Amino acid sequence: MSIALRGVTKRFDRHVALKDVSVDIESGSLTALVGPSGGGKSTLLRVIAGLERPDSGDVLIDGQTAVDVPVQDRGIGFVFQHYAAFKHMTVWENVAFGLRVRKMRRDAIRERVDHLLHLVQLEGLGGRYPSQLSGGQRQRMALARALAIKPEVLLLDEPFGALDAAVRAELRAWLRALHRDVHVTTIFVTHDQGEAMEIADRIVLINRGHVEQTGTPRELYERPANPFVMSFIGPITQLGDAFVRPHDIDVRNIPAESSLEAMVQRIVHLGFEVRVDLMLADGRGAWAQMTRDEVDQLELRLGQIVYVRSSRETRFHSDLPSHAVLGNAG
Ligand code: ADP
Ligand code: MG
Repeated sequence: MSIALRGVTKRFDRHVALKDVSVDIESGSLTALVGPSGGGKSTLLRVIAGLERPDSGDVLIDGQTAVDVPVQDRGIGFVFQHYAAFKHMTVWENVAFGLRVRKMRRDAIRERVDHLLHLVQLEGLGGRYPSQLSGGQRQRMALARALAIKPEVLLLDEPFGALDAAVRAELRAWLRALHRDVHVTTIFVTHDQGEAMEIADRIVLINRGHVEQTGTPRELYERPANPFVMSFIGPITQLGDAFVRPHDIDVRNIPAESSLEAMVQRIVHLGFEVRVDLMLADGRGAWAQMTRDEVDQLELRLGQIVYVRSSRETRFHSDLPSHAVLGNAG
């Protein structure tokens, strides 16, 4: 099912949580909704689900206006960050709950729940209680429960937010694989740009209630619409007025055409990667992301004078805030 928002505005008292937001979500896609906390991500999901009614604008589900369609008739599965399972019910019963409410036949319920537990890799754990699961297993149970009603749209609001990094990484890979299997239109909220880059087909970056940019992870990374997008999607530094990815800074011992003089301020070894803090002649700081081999070859040390230039840089026209020009200084 495709989803489209057309000029959606949502206020809470005087606070504008969404300002004239228009977004298109393709049927069967996996979209990440990213942005800083308080930017309006959850509100956007709740508007799609029908838990909030927009003050103006329209929500289209498969091209049909859905603003007056009640939550339970929108065919939407929802998973929140802090998923409240029924503690007194087993995992199996938790997954079956929505189907019992819908008065599905018992043997059909059994078949569907067993299949879902297999899908989320919890087969054999159906008899446990939620408290007997790990955090990652509980989130997978939440997903099985959301999928039980065969939703056409799956909305996930920071579903892995409360878990530690290793478990999150595992669930990310798992969600990607699950999406490949069930192909339900999925919108995934995260404040972690790395997570979004890794799993999404498309990213919608939302900030202060409006959409900064929509595109594939690569488009946002390589052709950011403005400095905010560029700094949100990956590391950023500045050489003069140009915004540069720190791995696109070329550091040398001898001057080259259009290079700038800089002094090495700090060298931080992070394993394969080395972070080099620089002070430019104009007094401004910058940093370069280099490999250990590059640093060894240049015999970099503190206080050394080096010559830097960017192999690729981005300039934004301040009079055209949503337009980026990608120059190539190399
Ligand atoms: P995000 O999910 O990106 O962190 P939210 O959509 O939760 O952001 O919130 C966007 C803004 O709207 C925030 O400033 C938040 O405080 C406000 N907000 C959200 N829900 C409500 C509500 N029910 N009542 C009042 N303000 C709200
Ligand atoms: Mg939120």
